[in-house]
Amino acid sequence: MKFIDEFRNAELGQKLVAKIHQSSTKPVRLMEFCGGHTVSILKHGIRQLLPPTVEMLSGPGCPVCVTANDDLDKVIALARLPNAIITTFGDMMKVPGSYSSLQEAKAEGANIKIVYSIQDALNIAQDNPQKSVIFVGIGFETTAPTIAASIFEAEQRGIKNFHILSLLKLCPPVMRALLELGEVRLNGIVCPGHVSAIIGSYPYEFIPKEYNIACVISGFEPLDILFTIAMLIEQVEKGKTKVEIAYLRGVKPEGNTHALKLMDKVFEVGDANWRGIGVISKSGLKIRKEYQHFDTENVFPITTAPVREPKGCLCGEILRGVKTPLDCKLFRKTCIPEHPVGPCMVSSEGACAAYFHYGATYG
Ligand code: SF4
Repeated sequence: MKFIDEFRNAELGQKLVAKIHQSSTKPVRLMEFCGGHTVSILKHGIRQLLPPTVEMLSGPGCPVCVTANDDLDKVIALARLPNAIITTFGDMMKVPGSYSSLQEAKAEGANIKIVYSIQDALNIAQDNPQKSVIFVGIGFETTAPTIAASIFEAEQRGIKNFHILSLLKLCPPVMRALLELGEVRLNGIVCPGHVSAIIGSYPYEFIPKEYNIACVISGFEPLDILFTIAMLIEQVEKGKTKVEIAYLRGVKPEGNTHALKLMDKVFEVGDANWRGIGVISKSGLKIRKEYQHFDTENVFPITTAPVREPKGCLCGEILRGVKTPLDCKLFRKTCIPEHPVGPCMVSSEGACAAYFHYGATYG
């Protein structure tokens, strides 16, 4: 299959659904790690097509959602520094921090610019040599190579007023942390497609080996996801768990070695703070000392007031897969996309926003 339409072919979809119904004999609980998968599953009504034996849970794979309030408060404090320009993707603007949001800080006069790529941030830095331009680097392994490349480009272009706040996070360590917490019993994981295009399939090998959980790397079209679910069920039914790639057009077992080398030049592994989970050792990417003049944490050390979590918000539990948006008393009442209480209602990949837009009525 070469074109998007082919991955939405109804006839093929029906065949896959029939296969899933035929082969699924025992109850399975599958987690789609990635927010992009959550959106696709809800948008295309995939849950409704599955037999009652198959339960789908959403995981922590939404970069905006997993950004801890502590880190968000830092971004807002940085935005209030005189002479600073914060550059960020639009999703971050409305996320409520402990005391304010970037949107409120902008309304109060902070210089915050929404960018569509890190190139835009570099150009803003070049055009404003008297200002310190800070790029809010949220994301997973997918985003890290581009951010690494931007540092080399800044060096080449002689841009010295460009800084990165690296809030980048790594997927396999949070998967291990969730499994170690033991709050949710899982039989299979729909592993992220874009992240795996960078890291490959090997970093997930510990999951079947140590936890006996099936893993299949999936693309984002409806047929990709149905195919992945069929493969996961087959593994569970046969009692033989392993890591498989359903997204063969995007992922190689070894990943993208060029991108991995680029990342490794600029970043080293460090601890990261995850909303709802806390600090997970070696689950983030920090800028190496050689590039510390680009590192916002080095150039502008910031302390913030004690963190406050939004009252009544279950984002943390939703990101850990122990609750769904429907469990939240604020969902669709005081918390809606125009007035979000937590990040899962803001982000385009957030579970609450996906439930809201696609009218999901069961967890
Ligand atoms: Fe938080 Fe709103 Fe989602 Fe409830 S509905 S968990 S308040 S983001």
